[in-house]
Amino acid sequence: MSDALRFPPPELDMSKPTIARAYDALLGGKDNFDLDRDLAAGVEEINPGSTVMAQHNRAFLARAVGFVAGELGIGQFLDLGSGLPTAENTHQVAQRNSPQNRVVYVDIDPMVLAHARALMVENDTTTVITADVRDVGAVMNDAGARRLLNTDEPVCLMLLSLLHCFPDEDDPFSLVRRYLEPFPSGSALVYSHTCSDDAEHARAVTERIHSSGTPWGRVRNPQECEAAVAGMELVSPSVDGTGPARLVDCDTWRKPGTDPVDIPDKRIWEHAGVAVKP
Ligand code: SAM
Repeated sequence: MSDALRFPPPELDMSKPTIARAYDALLGGKDNFDLDRDLAAGVEEINPGSTVMAQHNRAFLARAVGFVAGELGIGQFLDLGSGLPTAENTHQVAQRNSPQNRVVYVDIDPMVLAHARALMVENDTTTVITADVRDVGAVMNDAGARRLLNTDEPVCLMLLSLLHCFPDEDDPFSLVRRYLEPFPSGSALVYSHTCSDDAEHARAVTERIHSSGTPWGRVRNPQECEAAVAGMELVSPSVDGTGPARLVDCDTWRKPGTDPVDIPDKRIWEHAGVAVKP
């Protein structure tokens, strides 16, 4: 049998879980294996509500992409650590606004590419790159990125639920500035990061994920996470756009019928927001 027909694809590491597949398991997807489901169940056990938090993060993604495409009028999206295809992916939301909107997905997990291809996500306006996002040059020089992204016009950089995958040694927040550097003023950042102001709980969740053997960073506190938007102009998280601009619990960002909440009454949440490059 040719490699192209074999499932799982031979390049997949089946010896330990991956974040993309465990996250898919949390979201109730089918693109995961026993070790991934064990990790998802272990995280849910130590932090009840992780599944709901992942759902809130996806709902935030859809609202934020709709806002960036609709209100900011940005038509190109670079979605880093995009994850396995699920409902309401970036290209679906962005291209609902305008079919010409362009999306570049990047993920380190080869299964993302395999499934995106299977779902025929790749077309004239959307591509998927398998790369380590920490190699900014490799991503930005990839033929697909060069074909779809015009850096003379504003780009929306998406870093959702990704930066906590990196340890402090990687200087994860510097990635935001390295990617935004060649993008013009008016470019946008859509961001979320697993966050807690309970240090003991943050450590317990972090240790549970590390114990699975998959590379990961850590849960950070809200003060640390503010570094994601340094030098950017935050957008108001209020539905009508009038409230103070700040980072909030993703479940309260421009969610109809909900007031934005900075520090929710939760042990852990996705700290999130949208910001614009001045
Ligand atoms: N961004 C999606 C979302 O918010 O729904 C998926 C988030 S998932 C928790 C994190 C994703 O980042 C996974 O798909 C994982 O494979 C990817 N990832 C982790 N480290 C990466 C790296 N160094 N380079 C590229 N992708 C990475």
